[in-house]
Amino acid sequence: MNLKNITADKLVALYRNRDLSVTEVITSVFDEIDRTDNQVRAYLTLCRDRAFEDARRIDAKIAAGEELESLSGVPVAIKDNMALKDVPTTCASRILEGYTPPYTATAVERLRAAGAIVVGKTNMDEFAMGSSNENSAFFTTRNPHNLDCVPGGSSGGSAAAVAAGMALVSLGSDTGGSIRTPAAFCGVVGMKPTYGRVSRYGLVAFASSLDQIGPFAKSVRECAQVLEVICGFDHFDSTSADVSVEPLLRDLDQPIKDIRIGIPKEYFIPGMDPEVKSRLEKCIKTYEDMGCRLQEISLPHTEQAIATYYLIATAEASSNLARYDGVRYGARKGGDSGLNDMYRKTRMNGFGKEVKRRILLGTYALSAGYYDAYYLKALKVRTLILQDFRKAFDQVDVILTPTSPTVAFRIGEKTSDPLSMYLSDIFTITCNLAGLPGISVPCGRNSAGLPIGMQLLANHFQEALLLRAAFNFERAFLLQ
Ligand code: GLN
Repeated sequence: MNLKNITADKLVALYRNRDLSVTEVITSVFDEIDRTDNQVRAYLTLCRDRAFEDARRIDAKIAAGEELESLSGVPVAIKDNMALKDVPTTCASRILEGYTPPYTATAVERLRAAGAIVVGKTNMDEFAMGSSNENSAFFTTRNPHNLDCVPGGSSGGSAAAVAAGMALVSLGSDTGGSIRTPAAFCGVVGMKPTYGRVSRYGLVAFASSLDQIGPFAKSVRECAQVLEVICGFDHFDSTSADVSVEPLLRDLDQPIKDIRIGIPKEYFIPGMDPEVKSRLEKCIKTYEDMGCRLQEISLPHTEQAIATYYLIATAEASSNLARYDGVRYGARKGGDSGLNDMYRKTRMNGFGKEVKRRILLGTYALSAGYYDAYYLKALKVRTLILQDFRKAFDQVDVILTPTSPTVAFRIGEKTSDPLSMYLSDIFTITCNLAGLPGISVPCGRNSAGLPIGMQLLANHFQEALLLRAAFNFERAFLLQ
């Protein structure tokens, strides 16, 4: 069984017909992990025993002729910033070493209720801060398409696990592009839903007004299937949106003729990799051939997005990460001369370099005297960015952009220059600042065989339309 050649639907159908047992599939998934993961290193923790227990339980259901759920026996991977009861949750940080949550995140709980089997927890940039996975406190995950390249971040482990056939689908989180960038770099589909669409209960907070959980899959259909399971109101999350969820799978293959697609002129910038640019031009042509109406639009505050994001995200992070004090969670890292000494040593030894940089930046931006000049100003610009999108969505239904200005870069290429790393988020962060849904769909490879991603954005809660636009593209693209 090679997970790269099968979809969730087909897998569940094989179980239903008793052509395959869940235990067989879970066995082959762990065989694949044993073969591949010493190179790719997508997983931080494997849930072998639990997965086999789940598999036996579902096999018994099948033997008893019981109905299966939509994702019964589907092997999934979960980013290590989502709680799974009794399994370590580290956020790839030393400060959470030894922390085992007593509860499960809502999104993960919903996947399990739909029959999915958690294979393991995946590597990430520490506290989801990064674009390459190189900020993990433990090791760097590698891109399955070229082991010398990064898988993207921060949900690089979840993207690589799917791309390498070590899970059928997975969950990541996206604060400024952490699902869409790794999806683009690893050649899989990755989606960030509207803010509030998926519960954040049990997701370790990075920047609470930006964080969203979303799926990775090889195909748009599977992505829709997972999203349909995990989305919807949750009273455990006060920012969860009580907005009805349209069926996401039902109209997926409806034609998209006459849909208006906007191409923001600010997103086709000098410095963009020419191979990415020419691929994107082909994507535009594919939509034109499907009868869509393409038009240029303007999102004038795009240039301010990176500065705005890195003020808001760091400010929220500095406040969210104040809780890691060596008392309540995870590891206490020394300090025997009083409380302040213990705080200092715990945070000094527990947090990595990038996390400390963000805490410093955020604390500075929030401090008296600078609050108005930085944080408040950033909030105002955030509103302007949202207004840009509001105006754009008066004219078009969907916006098309590259996901990233480049393909996956080499490990180590940007680590000494945090600014150039931050710049790689240029196309993904506006979507989080505005709370919109966005998806990255593979749209080809460059001459070195590295995947290229196309990003589509839609208005708030327009996931069904977004997935339909992505599905039609994927189908046309595969036929080319
Ligand atoms: N790369 C961005 C950052 O470092 C986005 C991270 C994310 O989406 N979690 O903050």
